[in-house]
Amino acid sequence: MIYDNDSEIEKELVQKFSGKIFETISRVADNMQLECYAIGGYVRDIFLHRPSKDIDIVTVGKGIELAKAVAKELGPKVSLSVFKNFGTAQIKFKDTEIEFVGARRESYQRDSRKPVVEDGTLEDDQNRRDFTINALAVCLNKERFGELLDPFGGLQDMANLIIRTPLDPDITFSDDPLRMMRAIRFSSQLGFDIEADTFDAITRNKDRIAIISSERIIDELNKIVLSPKPSVGFLQLDQTGLLSIIFPELVALKGAETKEGIGHKDNFYHTLIVLDNIALKTDNLWLRWAAILHDIAKPATKRFDKKLGWTFHNHNFIGEKMVPGIFRRMKLPMNEKMKYVQKMVGLHMRPQVLVDEDITDSAVRRLLFEAGDDIDDLMTLCQADITSKNPEKVRRYLRNFEIVREKLKDIEEKDHVRNFQPPIGGEEIMEIFGLTPGVEVGRLKSSIKDAILDGAIANEYDAAYKYLIDKAKKIGLEPKSK
Ligand code: ATP
Repeated sequence: MIYDNDSEIEKELVQKFSGKIFETISRVADNMQLECYAIGGYVRDIFLHRPSKDIDIVTVGKGIELAKAVAKELGPKVSLSVFKNFGTAQIKFKDTEIEFVGARRESYQRDSRKPVVEDGTLEDDQNRRDFTINALAVCLNKERFGELLDPFGGLQDMANLIIRTPLDPDITFSDDPLRMMRAIRFSSQLGFDIEADTFDAITRNKDRIAIISSERIIDELNKIVLSPKPSVGFLQLDQTGLLSIIFPELVALKGAETKEGIGHKDNFYHTLIVLDNIALKTDNLWLRWAAILHDIAKPATKRFDKKLGWTFHNHNFIGEKMVPGIFRRMKLPMNEKMKYVQKMVGLHMRPQVLVDEDITDSAVRRLLFEAGDDIDDLMTLCQADITSKNPEKVRRYLRNFEIVREKLKDIEEKDHVRNFQPPIGGEEIMEIFGLTPGVEVGRLKSSIKDAILDGAIANEYDAAYKYLIDKAKKIGLEPKSK
């Protein structure tokens, strides 16, 4: 992204804006005598060499009319949606979304979230943008086609990898406090630094985040979670004080206490390392969330025991129970995604325990049964959880992990317990013994499951039937005579 002069930039932009969509917009805007620009993320991403499918078009006046005229020109294959209340219109053309809006001037009152919006010039519109790198505009009118309008030095900031607000950051952030999250999100996504004044203004204005809806906040937080090295964003959220407001449970993991000469690790920094480790392995947002939450109950379960030192008994189970509350508050989905995260948090110690103890077939079978198809994700999480600085320990863990992986593979091939359903179910048990639903049925059913998982009997019908009859006899039950 090094250019010797403006005409080189323009040459590149003319080339990037060639193609049917932009040619059509250009021609129609000229016919309607409207000034017209591509603006914001799309222009930024050209210089960052990031693929982008969303195009924002700003016109001085009459955004909706321009959109309608462009849609007509592009023919029947496009769909047009008009949002009159917002003064915007959207065209979908193949897999591209083009949003049209008239240039705006916004003024905010301190006690209101809603700005007063008026028609404005391109300059007004650039002034209301959040960051210099997001305020770049490219003219699409024929006479000035490809001309870059960069009033705040956004291109230079991109070259220096800097996030900075175009105007006084206190005003930009107070006007729309979500921009504080966006600054950190861009920093984490792009690996940019937040310029010092901008950063300080986030710290000063952090409490204003309270007026922003959870839905908008989680959108940005998830983008931080999905960034290449999420700890970059989380550390900045913490340093600015935003994290204590939006995610106090995570901040509660901070601190390493020492008693009687025994310390424990700082679980906040540990969690961030686990998250970064996971990010190297997967783009699965929910596995990344499992990493964030795997130790979330450590503060609630922390005890000091004179013999054992620091303990966090059952932090996996308590953590599993904390997941729904956190998901609900943050407006994360309360569906199977949440259940998956709960399962991962609940099981995250299990492979580790296997490594520490004897790796028996029965323990491996139980783990496979409980993790089901998520076993590989669970192993990935557990491996990411190894953050010891002692290379000998790490080597030992990794070696044992390989043994567990091998064993998991062997047992799955042999016993197929991953998606196992006991060969005799509750209905059939009731039928065999003439029982009505009740505890006995449940107990007999799980005794079959346990016998299979423990390897006492094979995972097949005849063995299960024989076992069931024997077991039932012991509690005085006989099969109904046929
Ligand atoms: P991404 O495409 O990665 O989601 P983006 O910023 O490019 O990020 P949008 O969030 O759709 O995509 O925003 C498009 C443009 O609108 C931005 O580049 C910026 O110019 C402007 N913008 C978006 N949100 C705000 C905001 N809260 N305050 C000011 N300008 C904003």
